[in-house]
Amino acid sequence: MAVVPLQTKHTLSRITNNIPTSHRPSLLRLRVTCSVTTTTKSRPTRENLVVVNPPLSTDTALQSSWTRRLWVSAGCTTVFVSFAKSIIGGFGSNLWLEPALAGFGGYILADLGSGLYHWATDNYGDGSTPLVGTHVQDSFDHHECPWTITERQFANNLHFLARGTTLMVLPLDLAFDDHVFHGFVSTFAFCVLFCQQFHVWAHGSKSELPPLVVALQDIGLLVSRERHVEHHRAPYNNNYCVVSGVWNKVLDESKFFEALEMVVYFKLGMKPRSWINPNSEWTEETEITNC
Ligand SMILES: [Zn+2]
Ligand SMILES: [Zn+2]
Repeated sequence: MAVVPLQTKHTLSRITNNIPTSHRPSLLRLRVTCSVTTTTKSRPTRENLVVVNPPLSTDTALQSSWTRRLWVSAGCTTVFVSFAKSIIGGFGSNLWLEPALAGFGGYILADLGSGLYHWATDNYGDGSTPLVGTHVQDSFDHHECPWTITERQFANNLHFLARGTTLMVLPLDLAFDDHVFHGFVSTFAFCVLFCQQFHVWAHGSKSELPPLVVALQDIGLLVSRERHVEHHRAPYNNNYCVVSGVWNKVLDESKFFEALEMVVYFKLGMKPRSWINPNSEWTEETEITNC
C-alpha cells in the first residue's frame, strides 16, 4: 500500500483567484488534505509461485518415467557408438583433423537446426500435430510458464529429442563406418539430444548453475542466459537457437525467420503464433501469476 498526494492540474492559488475575496477567508481556512490510496502490484517471484502452487517436481507432467529414461539411454548409446567409431577410425588411420573439423561442423549446424526446429514448434501446429505434437505442446507450455522448464526432470525434458536421435543415428551406426562421417554425426546428434538441457541451463540462475556451465555460457560455447531471456520477451520471434546460440545474431539481424514466416503465410496461409496474440498467450516469466 502506498499513499501518494493528489496532484491537480492547476495550482491552488490559481483556483482561488477566481473566488470573490469576501469568500476567501472561510475557504482558505479549510485544509485541503486530499490523497489517493493506491496499491502497488509487486512482481511475482518464483518463490511466491511455489508457495501458492503445489511443488511442481511432484507434477507427473514434469517427472521422468522409466520409458523416458530408456529413450534417453538409447539416444546416448547411439551417440556414443557413433563417437566411438569416429575415435577408433582416427586411431586406425591417424587422421584426426578431418573428424575434428567434421565434429565442429556438427556442433555449428546443430545450433542452426535447433533454431529452425524451435521456430517451427513455437509457431506452428498444436498438440495433435503428427510426430511433433508433444513437443509443440511443450513449447507452448514453456512460453506460458518459462521457468517451469527448470523443474522438469532430466529424462522428462530430453526424452522427446532422444527418440528422434535414436531413430536417426541407429541406422547410421549400423550402415556406416567412416570415422569422419561419424565425427559429424556424433557431435550433431549429441547437441540435438542435449539442446533441451542447454535450454534449461539458459533459464538457470548463475548462482545455482555449475561453474563449468556458467563458464561455457560466458565464453559462448553454450547458449547464454542473457540472450535467451530475449526469446521470452516481445516480439517473441528471435533467439531461437539453443545450442551455442552462435546463429542467433545473424538469423535475427537478417530477419531470416520473419522472411520464412512470410513465405509460409503466402504459400500456406498459416500465421505464426508470434503474430497472432503474443500478449495474452506468450508472457514473460516474471508476469506469470497463475501457473
Ligand atoms: Zn520458444
Ligand atoms: Zn526458454
